[in-house]
Amino acid sequence: MATQGSSPSGPSLTLSSEHEMIRQTARDFAQKEIAPIAAEFDESGEFPHETVDKMGAMGFMGIEIPETYGGAGLDTLAYVLALEEICKVDAAHGTIMSVNNSLFGYALLRFGTEEQKHKYLEPVASGKAIGAYSLTEPMSGSDAGTMRSRAVRKGDDYVLNGRKSWVTSGPVARFIIAFIMTDPEKKHRGITAFLVDTQLTGFSVGKKEPKLGIRASATTEIVFEDFCCPASTRLGQEGEGFKIAMAVLDAGRIGIASQALGIAEACYDASLQYAREREAFGQKIGEFQGIGFKLADMKTRIEASRLLIIQAALAKQASKASGARFTLEASMAKLFASETSMFCAHAAVQIHAGMGYSKELPIERYFRDAKITEIYEGTSEIQRLVIARSELGLKG
Ligand SMILES: Cc1cc2nc3c(=O)[nH]c(=O)nc-3n(C[C@H](O)[C@H](O)[C@H](O)COP(=O)(O)OP(=O)(O)OC[C@H]3O[C@@H](n4cnc5c(N)ncnc54)[C@H](O)[C@@H]3O)c2cc1C
Repeated sequence: MATQGSSPSGPSLTLSSEHEMIRQTARDFAQKEIAPIAAEFDESGEFPHETVDKMGAMGFMGIEIPETYGGAGLDTLAYVLALEEICKVDAAHGTIMSVNNSLFGYALLRFGTEEQKHKYLEPVASGKAIGAYSLTEPMSGSDAGTMRSRAVRKGDDYVLNGRKSWVTSGPVARFIIAFIMTDPEKKHRGITAFLVDTQLTGFSVGKKEPKLGIRASATTEIVFEDFCCPASTRLGQEGEGFKIAMAVLDAGRIGIASQALGIAEACYDASLQYAREREAFGQKIGEFQGIGFKLADMKTRIEASRLLIIQAALAKQASKASGARFTLEASMAKLFASETSMFCAHAAVQIHAGMGYSKELPIERYFRDAKITEIYEGTSEIQRLVIARSELGLKG
């Protein structure tokens, strides 16, 4: 990992040459392949199949997954660096990448049987298929224990019925980890995780979720109507679904923090350049203290976010050997980086003023994209709850 040194912007953590190379590779890829199409796909809301396939070929869809299971076999720091660079250019591509890596890949790696890893993880980590994660329902978001979908055991099979909402990559995923209630009386302790093959009868894609930002990522409802699956598709034990869902979100939140950082940096870079070039009242607007202070706050929050993300990435990496949770580190990184992202997007629109509001520049897209980082994989309120409970020693 990193040692003390200096970066172009001053004293900072420097990366090992391997990590620097990964970052540069992701940066070059994002600039060459994603930057030219980001605005077009944001406008149309279409899923960018071609670039996602290329991300798969580059190893970006299973960065931390061992090569035996189709992944790139790199570490958590490599993952956050690559994701940050992709999101600096387009957060929608970042969402697709993050769900594939952390919500699907990490769940299989941590909780899957050997057979499940080969069958479900390998194609997804190698980028040949897309994975998704489905916890949310129309009537239950933060409070998963009230979900209405049901799975009933029938001999060696389970029969699933219900409607799940807001599934990122829902219409394009080959495999989805679906969290379904098997014992409603036990509330969240009655939830079970299933590995759903979306090509089987009884599964269908429901309505498209119309949304403000990350528009090129496909988000839909999914529907189970007497969907029959063998017990071998259960991930973990019956009733362990909530535990799995939360453990997986710890990993996911580090990804969303990196996404937020990427968006914040894009806002900052554009604002700095604009403040140096744009003139008003006979001077560069950066010379106005009101603009300079905005830039100072943006830069400081970005660097603080980066440190929290590195801390969380190192904690996750260490957990691979120790098995220790990294819930607190992940929540703090997600909370701070997502609020930084929104802060920077708000400031960037203000600094660009009319041009910040215009579709001629990507600033308004950054503004729309930044907001989601405060909502999914646990809202900012839920992150504060997690952090406070951890500090107070209260049971989650
Ligand atoms: C673009 C997008 C993509 C998504 N992708 C996925 C996905 O791939 N898979 C998936 O399962 N879900 C996904 N989600 C769902 C997302 O995780 C939920 O929207 C989120 O968890 C919040 O749930 P909710 O929208 O039902 O809000 P609610 O839980 O209804 O919350 C409403 C408000 O109440 C607050 N609140 C709730 N409980 C508390 C509390 N205890 N204390 C304080 N405040 C509280 C919330 O913070 C929020 O402000 C996605 C959502 C979006 C918008």
